[in-house]
Amino acid sequence: MQYTFSLTLNSEDDTQKLAQVLAQHFNSGVVYLVGDLGAGKTTLSRYFLTALGHQGAVKSPTYTLVEPYTIQGRDVFHFDLYRLHDPYELELMGIRDYLEIPNALFLFEWPSKGGSEIPQADLIIDILKSDDDLQRQVSISTESAELFNKLREKMNVA
Ligand code: ADP
Ligand code: MG
Repeated sequence: MQYTFSLTLNSEDDTQKLAQVLAQHFNSGVVYLVGDLGAGKTTLSRYFLTALGHQGAVKSPTYTLVEPYTIQGRDVFHFDLYRLHDPYELELMGIRDYLEIPNALFLFEWPSKGGSEIPQADLIIDILKSDDDLQRQVSISTESAELFNKLREKMNVA
């Protein structure tokens, strides 16, 4: 079953805090980042990679489809599938080789464009921005009761 909780992020500081909590409890596996353009998927990814220990810039992979990192010895792949025309392109770029790397972390923006070429998510983060663009409503889903409880506790969700 999926466990889900929701959060309101009132500022980028709140987004950074969420990223820091995520980084403490989740550092390998598959994350889907869902939401419209400008929702904050890349912003959250930046804070997340930085919280994991990455130093330096985090480029948006909009044009490259994927940006690879090695963070504290771990392989991290940040995908943005927005411009993907066909999921088969992922096959051609060798995604299967990436997916076989042990303990790697995968972030997928626009996972809906990946079809069956991308694995199921361990964590789904769905971001909705408010009409005035100031707030973000975030829903976090996972099948792991342990992860769910830890994240909810650390984010002070009742
Ligand atoms: P996406 O990758 O979903 O298209 P981006 O992360 O590139 O979105 O852009 C989100 C924009 O919204 C950035 O300009 C960011 O500064 C702004 N923003 C405002 N408030 C927040 C927030 N609470 N969390 C994330 N981004 C925010
Ligand atoms: Mg983006």
